[in-house]
Amino acid sequence: MKSLAINQAMDILKLLRQVAEGQDDVPSKLARITKIIAEQLNADASACYVSVDDDYLELFSSFGFSPDAAHKIKLRYGEGLVGEVAKTSRSLAVSDAWSHPKFSYKKGMGEEEYKSFLGVPLIRRSRSIGVLTVQSKEIHEYSRLEIEILETVAMVLAEMIASDEMSEYKKTLIKERGLATRERIKGLSLSKGYGLGKAVVHRRRQAVTKIFAEDKEKELRRLEIAHREMNDDLDAKFDAAQLGIGEHVDILDAYRMFAKDKGWYKKIADNVNSGLTVEAAVERAYEDMWNRLSGTKDSYLKERLHDLRDVADRLQSYLSGDTKNSEETGQWSDIIVVAQTMGPADLMDYDYNKIRGLIIEDGTPTMHVAIVAKALNIPVIAKIKGIFEEIKTGELIAVDGNDSYVYIHPSQAVQDKFKTKIAEKEKLQARLAELRKLPAKTLDGIRIGLYVNVGLAFDLDYIAATNCDGVGLYRTEIPFMASDVMPDVEKQTAYYKELMDKAGNKKVIFRSLDVGSDKLLPYWGSVGEENPAIGWRSIRITLDRRAILRKQLRAFLRAAAGKELNVMFPMISDLFEFEEAKETLLIELEKEKRRGDPVPSKVNTGLMIEVPSVVFQLEPILKQADFISVGTNDLAQFIFACDRGNPRLTERYDVLSSPFLKVMGEIVSQANAADVYCSVCGEMASNPIEAMALIGLGFRNLSSSGSSFGRVKSMIRTINVEEVSDYVKTLLKSQKRTLRPQLLAYAYDHGIEIY
Ligand code: PEP
Ligand code: MG
Repeated sequence: MKSLAINQAMDILKLLRQVAEGQDDVPSKLARITKIIAEQLNADASACYVSVDDDYLELFSSFGFSPDAAHKIKLRYGEGLVGEVAKTSRSLAVSDAWSHPKFSYKKGMGEEEYKSFLGVPLIRRSRSIGVLTVQSKEIHEYSRLEIEILETVAMVLAEMIASDEMSEYKKTLIKERGLATRERIKGLSLSKGYGLGKAVVHRRRQAVTKIFAEDKEKELRRLEIAHREMNDDLDAKFDAAQLGIGEHVDILDAYRMFAKDKGWYKKIADNVNSGLTVEAAVERAYEDMWNRLSGTKDSYLKERLHDLRDVADRLQSYLSGDTKNSEETGQWSDIIVVAQTMGPADLMDYDYNKIRGLIIEDGTPTMHVAIVAKALNIPVIAKIKGIFEEIKTGELIAVDGNDSYVYIHPSQAVQDKFKTKIAEKEKLQARLAELRKLPAKTLDGIRIGLYVNVGLAFDLDYIAATNCDGVGLYRTEIPFMASDVMPDVEKQTAYYKELMDKAGNKKVIFRSLDVGSDKLLPYWGSVGEENPAIGWRSIRITLDRRAILRKQLRAFLRAAAGKELNVMFPMISDLFEFEEAKETLLIELEKEKRRGDPVPSKVNTGLMIEVPSVVFQLEPILKQADFISVGTNDLAQFIFACDRGNPRLTERYDVLSSPFLKVMGEIVSQANAADVYCSVCGEMASNPIEAMALIGLGFRNLSSSGSSFGRVKSMIRTINVEEVSDYVKTLLKSQKRTLRPQLLAYAYDHGIEIY
């Protein structure tokens, strides 16, 4: 394979295009394509592997290898040189394949006489969907230019492989082999609920058919126009929408700034100047960024990659002039949006009152669009490989966010089941709405303080909607995370004041900034710790960077002027940390008074019980704290030494087990004995059966998520505290790894409402 000039690459692409657009069937097209690639690149052999079933690559066509190897040779991702290319999504050039440690010999392939190997991934939406290789009999060092040419060819080939024609072909192969086509597919639920509707595939990007441009100036003009139109439309859409104020607006504003980012624009323009069309230049800019960032563990940067993919897609649609959802989909009343990835702004392209479900192939729980969808009560399923390519607009889809399933073309029986579930949910919503006026009182007359947790602006509406006793946890970090710069005291005061106003006379507990670990701030960068969950985070940061804490405390004091202020410090591991934090608050209070500014009528200071060490210091702590609140999410993570975000561990330990319940029992009995207000604001308080156990242990204040509030209240109104307490006490002696089945059976036997 000799050095090739760019115009030779263009010739190859032209030939490939002719084949792709021809009338041949898929196998013949692929056979011709591998032959062209080998011949044009002066190689002795070429092969194209495609992923058919999630983790396997299959040889689809080859030139220069055994003619009957196609569809017989299969490799796992990571197996051999080809598998390595697919797994890492990176090109691999080896002058002598046989001496490479990853080489694995495949009998029947006919590769015995080949030495040099060049493999490039076929990437589609950041994922390897196949591998293209060339090989030669000679030992050969591949040049950068040769690699780039094959990568460019691979870009076009990847689009062909992802075409409807190819996915139909893959489906026939699966059927012929007698494998069941997937009807019910397991994913990861990011938001609960049931939905049934017609699929609307979210902006399935058109293949980039033209890679090289003849007229740079013309391309740069196209870029400028599309970029301007996109940003004008975004501005108009956001300005017209009734978004109110709050951090969801910040999320969307940050997105808007991203779309206007000068560095990104320049990168695309530079790519155009090097000879690419704008469409190819946009993809190249994304791929460069993806190559740099995809390996990062930093969840903030990962989210930025999602945003970049989203903005790139948006720009592509302006370049192609295809910026509207089709008329047809606009008329459907129940839609399930299916996306590879999606930005928060994309939900605004649909009438979100019609969205019955969202499927995001590359979704993560922290993804902005998932957070927004959850707040809108839309069930969301993520992490199903290949689903985006599989579903076509108009297909009937059912989404089960409770058990994490997606159904494609659900049978009549499944549809009926979903309709019943949806109707039940509506009935339940209505019942829960009736509950709004009734007190959170148990059958034996004990009033439980029932609060809501607030993070996103949407949550603010729950204060009135639930008729709760107040806000048991205000997670202040979300506005900080959504902003591009640290919000100043005025901005923070405005946020907090909005909450105080919405709460009226109800109690509000502000938590000081709880960042670090999985909650990273864009303007701080990552400190690259080995163990961020037990690293420099939360109160440890704000005590070290005291100015940040002081500013936040000042904003709390101002927002609560004339009212009671409750400030809670997170992740306290030792009494002295709490003392320092409390003293900082009291100093700020004095400063405000000296300045003559209005101050709160009363200031209470508390802490979260999230680190096991404080459970053993409760005695002195309870002498100094006005209140405590148990963060069971972190407390369980540290008690079981079990990463709370790792799905592999979710089923391994249960908070409804004797060790954890004993710790909870110890906390509440000490607090009750000291007559210190004590609540639970972790997820346990949002789960009715877990909340029932907490009440049984002695907790009388719970702070749940707004969406679970009604279900928890329903449970409270159907329990007898004395009986539950007796039962929970006997259970604590059990050695079982989970007490959940027993507690559920108890609830069922006693007519306790657990939804
Ligand atoms: C907790 O850890 O239980 C808690 C409420 O805090 P967060 O989930 O915000 O860490
Ligand atoms: Mg916590």
